[in-house]
Amino acid sequence: MRAMILRTLKWLLALAIAGLLAFVGVVHWFFYDNRMPHDGTFPLDFAALHQAADAIPGEKATRIEVETVSHTPVPRIAMVAGTGWKKIDMVRNSYRVVFPEGSLIIDTGQDRADALRFGANAYDVEAWTRILAGIASADTIVLTHGHGDHAGGLAASEDVPGIAGKARLSAAQIATMANGGLDTSAFRPTLDYDGVLALAPGVALIAAPGHTPGSQMVYVQLAGGQEYLFMGDTASMADNVRLGRIRSHYVTDRIGKDDRHAVFLQTAALQRLAAEDPGLVLVPGHDASATAAFEAQGLLQPGFSGP
Ligand SMILES: [Zn+2]
Repeated sequence: MRAMILRTLKWLLALAIAGLLAFVGVVHWFFYDNRMPHDGTFPLDFAALHQAADAIPGEKATRIEVETVSHTPVPRIAMVAGTGWKKIDMVRNSYRVVFPEGSLIIDTGQDRADALRFGANAYDVEAWTRILAGIASADTIVLTHGHGDHAGGLAASEDVPGIAGKARLSAAQIATMANGGLDTSAFRPTLDYDGVLALAPGVALIAAPGHTPGSQMVYVQLAGGQEYLFMGDTASMADNVRLGRIRSHYVTDRIGKDDRHAVFLQTAALQRLAAEDPGLVLVPGHDASATAAFEAQGLLQPGFSGP
């Protein structure tokens, strides 16, 4: 009898240990794993960006404005693998590149319902209204990718047929928008390129499939020479590049469907650019503290001004 009880207890203990190890393994895989690939490179260099920036004649932009439409608290470790569980503020932004004549919008934020569905604890209705006005008056609109928190303003515009012609979207971006439940019937693909594409004076697109098949980054050089790179969700947080830690498997595999290998190579390329020119402003996709720092330094102007 005693031997049987002992044997049962041993079995239960072994089971508990196995369960604990499995749990630790799963948590490690989802939130801590950040093994970098050792093969391949993502081609990205200043020479190609500068050439594209000068390819289209005309006056370059003079300033870049930012709107933050929502705030969502998320554990830092979800957005930057292997860091800590303390919550950080994740923002949804839209950017307006202002030329002497005209403007270009990069990413368009998300509507209130979408923000709340994804856990936002603050939503700025006035910022949303200014984003929609910025979209209406812009000459060109581009997205870093087609997810709803970047494409929301396009789909929510009061005059979708009127703005559809100036939205430069790829077929892959439109597909991502449609997969996310956005109405894309008015949009036609007018963007099809690899590598770097000159878009406007001082502005170039960098094809960066990885976070989504249609992901791209946007390079902007102002008339005064200041350079920016809008990274979208290739790097949602400044620390993705600074620490060389991409978003966790939980975010890239369970919530999204990222090509992690591609994102790692892109992250390494961004690190090379940052090392080569520390003056380059790397704008992450969702980083509240980076946004605040850029505003404080005068690198991004808070709020869209009128048309
Ligand atoms: Zn995003």
